[in-house]
Amino acid sequence: MAIDSTRFLEDLHKLRSFGASGVGKGVIRPAYSAADIAARQWLAERMAAAGLTPHFDPVGNLFGLAEGASLLMGSHSDSQPEGGWLDGALGVIAALEIARSSDRPISVVSFQDEEGRFGVTTGSAIWSGGLALDQADALTDASGIRFDAARASMADLAQGFVDPTRFKGFIEMHIEQGPTLDAEGEQIGVVTDIVGIRDMAITFLGQQNHAGTTPMHLRRDAFQALALFNARLNDRFRNVVTPQTVWTIGRVDLHPNASSIVPGRVRFSMQWRDGEPDRLLRMEEIIRTTAQEVATEQEMTLEYGPMLGLEPVAMDPAIRAALEHGAQSVAPGKWRRMPSGALHDATNVARLMPVAMLFTPSINGISHDFAEDTAESDLIAGLEVLDHAVGLLDVF
Ligand SMILES: [Zn+2]
Repeated sequence: MAIDSTRFLEDLHKLRSFGASGVGKGVIRPAYSAADIAARQWLAERMAAAGLTPHFDPVGNLFGLAEGASLLMGSHSDSQPEGGWLDGALGVIAALEIARSSDRPISVVSFQDEEGRFGVTTGSAIWSGGLALDQADALTDASGIRFDAARASMADLAQGFVDPTRFKGFIEMHIEQGPTLDAEGEQIGVVTDIVGIRDMAITFLGQQNHAGTTPMHLRRDAFQALALFNARLNDRFRNVVTPQTVWTIGRVDLHPNASSIVPGRVRFSMQWRDGEPDRLLRMEEIIRTTAQEVATEQEMTLEYGPMLGLEPVAMDPAIRAALEHGAQSVAPGKWRRMPSGALHDATNVARLMPVAMLFTPSINGISHDFAEDTAESDLIAGLEVLDHAVGLLDVF
């Protein structure tokens, strides 16, 4: 049976109707909300109609299982508190369409809480063993609701965790959530790797003092230290980074944050992302050297918080090659290889099996917003690439 792009688009619009909100094609469907659970129950019905066996696990991950060994495809169907209609949903509905049209055994998954109401890609993190269930249960959302209470709302649907060894690989199609493909007029991105992340808090401790009576040369001003650190870091990174490397000081706590006080302390987040483990390490060395230098010059005490992070994940060469072949056949000259700067469920699933990812363009690079959208012709091109790739794979 051939893929049916009309049925694919209809199901995508139907999924959007659960939690449809805002102007354009906005969606409010956070994990475990009434809209999310209703959407998952509808998805389970669609999976059953496709000949798959629906299976909810103890945290609300929904699988549509093919019999025997199969290739797993999918993404997530929860949304940000204000999200778009394609983030996650595209990968789930595309997987469903491939499963019901392909003669290959394809299973479908919609992971729960990818958008991190409780953790980070919570559902796939737990399933893959990256996050222990009892640890997850103690996590709380922004309003103080615990994860165990939230997942209890789906307890009547729950069976056990699915044995991952029944799957021979995982493919996740997702919107790019960045500007590259749209700006270049391209239809498809074949992901090379999902970038790694490092994140740590840094503190400069100086001397809090009176902003009127303290002469400039006697100040140990924590804000000045941060400003100097930032400028020097940007300069030094230039020799090390690629155009894909990113770094962010996203949170700054300046103490006491008052206009007539020389700030004595600044604690800030330092986050950096890249696809190369070596580059992540080199950047860490530059961060530490620069911070130490500034601390010495400015007479600051320097403190570091614990280093958090995830390693970069390379896509499986065989599945990736099949996707590239599909992209070349469906969109010749209008596709590229590219890293994923955003985290995805595939990062977790890579602990269990070979994974690969495919991107479709995000119009104006917008996502996590009601305005998120992709041209229908590009959505269909992505579906066709998946179909082509699945036909080439010999993982079954
Ligand atoms: Zn997503």
